Amino acid sequence: MTRKAPPAPLSQAWTGAQVEAHAHAALTAALNYFRIPDHWEVTLCFSGGDGDNAGEVHVDQTYLRATITLNTEYLRTSPQKVWETVGHEVAHIALAPFDAFWVGLPDKTQGKQREQYIRAVENTVVQLTRMWLRDHPDPA
Ligand SMILES: [Zn+2]
Repeated sequence: MTRKAPPAPLSQAWTGAQVEAHAHAALTAALNYFRIPDHWEVTLCFSGGDGDNAGEVHVDQTYLRATITLNTEYLRTSPQKVWETVGHEVAHIALAPFDAFWVGLPDKTQGKQREQYIRAVENTVVQLTRMWLRDHPDPA
């Protein structure tokens, strides 16, 4: 998931269609950058304004499907976050095999270890997102 930052002034807001078009361009570039194989089916969804997240991803390892849900209302007012958020969520797909490992662990590894695991994955995704932004700056 990608947490929201304070939005920019409304004068710089995009339309929902602009957000969606830019998100699709970012998805194509990020799937290529992170070498997500073609047999993965990755879908973009656009939601309303609720929630603390700019975006989140749900990964289905069994059927090699992932759905990235973007908070369109937030991203309209922070269009500079579209490219970053899509890259961040695609980086989560790249690390999804670790989630499959986690699910297989016994229940006693919940709690503190779960927090540590989530932090480790998120920190790594943040690093990968910075590489993505350095190597593929937002063209908008
Ligand atoms: Zn995340």
